[in-house]
Amino acid sequence: MRRAYAMAALCLATGLVSAQERPTAGNPHPLHAPRLRLDPVRAFQHIEQGAERMRAHRAARLQHAEHGDPGSQPPLPPTPARRPTGAGRHIAAVVACADGDFDVSALLLQRRPDLLILANPGPVLRRDEIALLERSIETERLPLCIVLVHDDCPTAEAREHTRSARRPLSSREYGEIVARHLLRQSRLAQQAQRLGRFEVVVGHVAANGDITWHAEALEAPPLGRGAPAPRPEPDPTHASPAVEGEPASPPARPARH
Ligand SMILES: [Zn+2]
Repeated sequence: MRRAYAMAALCLATGLVSAQERPTAGNPHPLHAPRLRLDPVRAFQHIEQGAERMRAHRAARLQHAEHGDPGSQPPLPPTPARRPTGAGRHIAAVVACADGDFDVSALLLQRRPDLLILANPGPVLRRDEIALLERSIETERLPLCIVLVHDDCPTAEAREHTRSARRPLSSREYGEIVARHLLRQSRLAQQAQRLGRFEVVVGHVAANGDITWHAEALEAPPLGRGAPAPRPEPDPTHASPAVEGEPASPPARPARH
């Protein structure tokens, strides 16, 4: 009993367990209880619902501006939903095109601290950006990375990116190149993806702020129908580095069309 308390105290000191996992009189062995982890599907649903509420708000404001009573107040902006259970430090990382002129957290109706936002000036993520994502996946349970591309993107249309394709890239193609590059560069992200703990989704932002999601990867194994049951969360006090001893990884799964 004393040892269980000591282990729990150690983990609390190192931030490995949340307050609700602290030992109590009724649950003296909280470290042995299954941990609820935010998986990529629930993380995406949370983000998607935020974006949808903002879309509905924009539509309501437009309706009010065009047809509403001039003396009435315009609809108030919605507030972000509660954090989903099991979320780590960030609900999602967002790789946003550096020349997009949208406010990412407002567009997705998320609190800014809940997103790890990287402004990307091209389809190649820098080593330090990959390292940051890997740290978040490994130590902060980051379940999802969203690549946001947008209409009329000068970066996607830049000659250096279209030379190999011999034609202008659509913003969706550009986003998928970013997503594939991210997974190719990180064996840790690939491993987390195979375990169903991490996924990359592309979102296309229209000029009016509406987002079209390309989230087919969330419907394929290991997350979608036919996926095996998720593996139990290992005891964090005995977790080994995710990359050590990992065999060579297969290429990243392309998104289905
Ligand atoms: Zn752009």
